[in-house]
Amino acid sequence: MRKIAILGTTGSIGSQALSIVDAYPDKFSISALSAHSNAVELFNLVRKYRPSAAALTSGEVQIPEDLSFCNWYFGETALEKITRDVPCDDVLVSVVGMSALKAVINAIDTGKRVLLANKETIVAGGNIIMPKCDLFSENANLIPIDSEHSAIHQCLLGAKDNAFNSLILTASGGPFRTWSIKEMQNVRPEDALKHPTWDMGKKITIDSASMFNKALEIIEAKWLFSAEPSQIDVLVHPESIVHSMVEYKDFAVMAQLGVPDMRTSIMYAMFYPVRMGAVSERLNLADIHTLHFEKPDTECFPSIALAYDALRLGGSAPCVLNAANEIAVEAFLNGKIGFLNIADTVKYVLSKELPKAKNADEIIYADNWARCRASEYIDSIN
Ligand code: NDP
Ligand code: MG
Repeated sequence: MRKIAILGTTGSIGSQALSIVDAYPDKFSISALSAHSNAVELFNLVRKYRPSAAALTSGEVQIPEDLSFCNWYFGETALEKITRDVPCDDVLVSVVGMSALKAVINAIDTGKRVLLANKETIVAGGNIIMPKCDLFSENANLIPIDSEHSAIHQCLLGAKDNAFNSLILTASGGPFRTWSIKEMQNVRPEDALKHPTWDMGKKITIDSASMFNKALEIIEAKWLFSAEPSQIDVLVHPESIVHSMVEYKDFAVMAQLGVPDMRTSIMYAMFYPVRMGAVSERLNLADIHTLHFEKPDTECFPSIALAYDALRLGGSAPCVLNAANEIAVEAFLNGKIGFLNIADTVKYVLSKELPKAKNADEIIYADNWARCRASEYIDSIN
């Protein structure tokens, strides 16, 4: 039985991870759970799974008497303390944003395996996390959960030396795939929150609509698989059946296919390197008949080019892109800026002289710095 901590338990990925624990109750015991502000739901989960530790990252609240068996952690530093202090085998990181940076580093430094859904952390801190990581051996200490990177991880098992030519990230294209720039000018949050194929948390759903999700995933792929920017391509594939592909030096292309259901990638990471019986539906290609692929429209979606710009700039640029995007998404959801202003905000912040990002504290500084610059820009256009 493996001991697992799930950070971000109350979210879309966190609750799907718990459904896998429920499906295989003799394989996992829960050692820690976390939520940000949803205390009621976290209390219910602690009652059900009885972990030895739990965290509420938004701050301290009164703990019900029947939950005093559990060690409680509160506030911004809760996750880094839990991953350092609580003994377990696996830490599944499904919080949103890059608040888990130090938690991921502590988990790896204390010999735990990180099952990583949270792409913002690797985008911002890939330069300091990846030198500590092994993705492919029996003792791998980092397994990606993001469906594209899970697919690439699976495809890369097809060659001993990972001799790939290119990594081809597929993208659904989101709800505005066929819209013109003019049509996108008046997009409302409720339009952007309707994803055609995946059911996900709010932030990543907006990122999918703006294709900043793919921008983050380009950077995520660079760090996870040591790829050069020129080796990473994006292909729009509206059916979301091919989760990503790897082209090898001999031009053989490996793809991983399945119905769009994150539980497949979560399970793959939770049981790696063993394959377990599915909890999702079976893919039936005869029913689907046809799969479509097209190049992304980089004029309508400047996010893709901004990801390559950030990789070219290096240093803190990926962290800055991520932080500016987070602030812009929040402003868009609050009705402060239009949909197209999300990319304008990121472009503006990336054009500044950027801070350094050689260690965790510098990355956190760069993240805060970019948030301030993004807020200034948003205020200036209002
Ligand atoms: P959700 O918004 O559904 O859930 C986020 C979780 O993180 C909740 O438990 C939430 O707690 C907690 N949380 C929110 N803010 C903070 C904070 N500042 N510090 C610590 N914890 C916080 O997100 P998703 O599950 O959709 O996404 C989680 C991560 O996985 C993201 O990085 C996303 O990009 C990535 N991902 C998600 C996919 C999906 O299908 N959903 C697919 C691929 C990657 P509370 O409920 O209390 O607010
Ligand atoms: Mg993805």
